[in-house]
Parts: sequence; structure tokens; C-alpha cells
Amino acid sequence: MSKKLTFGVDDLSDSARENFVGTIVEANYPCECDMCLKGADSLGEDRKDSLHIQISPLSVYEKRQHEWLVPSKTKLSKWGAFNIRLDEIGILKKIKSPKDLVGKTFEFESIEVSVGFGDKKVSCWVPVRLLSKKEVDDFIDNTDGDHPDIDEYLPDDDYYDDEDEEYED
Ligand SMILES: [Zn+2]
Repeated sequence: MSKKLTFGVDDLSDSARENFVGTIVEANYPCECDMCLKGADSLGEDRKDSLHIQISPLSVYEKRQHEWLVPSKTKLSKWGAFNIRLDEIGILKKIKSPKDLVGKTFEFESIEVSVGFGDKKVSCWVPVRLLSKKEVDDFIDNTDGDHPDIDEYLPDDDYYDDEDEEYED
């Protein structure tokens, strides 16, 4: 018996990884977690000089998602791509240190970032938009189970209390 195979392009996603909503629960530079202390990853990316961002998913994924950003002067880098997104979202000026990212809930998408010369590309989680406190609360209400991983980061009453004037263009 042969399996049916459908050729086409309409159903193909641009990304191998599905968008998700998640809360940044760790952002450390330098980071001294076990993953970072091991040094370079399988792609040869050195994690010792990276900002290590850990995202606890509220949708799609079960496990924490990780991103490593090496500080860079060029837009053609994961660092550049991430900062450009923060700027587009309108919160870049509010991010003075890695800790300012912690507790924020974004929708994330995976994009391919060209790095350096040649055609080397790496995939990177970058924020699409910042969720409001109400949206985060709705996500919590509409998902089954607890979120012990992020409970301590869930928005309190002063989360984005200035969102109207600060977080929208
Ligand atoms: Zn780390």
C-alpha cells in the first residue's frame, strides 16, 4: 500500500518552529547555568559571552525555550534582530539591563538571521509583540494546568500599568 503524498507550497510554513506566547523568566549576562558553562554548542556558538534568555511557554510548547544572543555591533546578528524587534514593539528604551526583560510576556516567532559574511543563517526566537496584563491573564485562564515555572513572574497589578502611554506608538 502506498502512502499519499501531496505536493504544494500553500501549506508550507516559513519557519520550522511555530510561534508561541511565553514569559521571559531568566535573562543573564554572563550566564553561569550548566548549559552556558559547557561553552560552545553544537553549532559552534560560544555561549560564554552570550545573553542567555529563557522563555517559559504559555502556548504550543511544554519546555522552556532558550535563546543565546552574543552582543554585537551589527544588525546582521541575533543580537541585532532581537533589539530591532524590541524597538519595533516600542519598548527598547525601557530595557536598560537584562533584568528588564524578565517577567515580560511576548509572542515569539522564529526567524532566520544572516550572520556575518557568506550565507550562514541561524534561527532565533524574536518577540513579535508584547502582551498586556489582560491577555496574559486570559492565557493563564484558558490553559489547563498550572504554570509553576512562571507563577512568580505572572503580572501583578502594576504590570504595564502605563501601557497606554508607554507601550503603544
Ligand atoms: Zn545560561
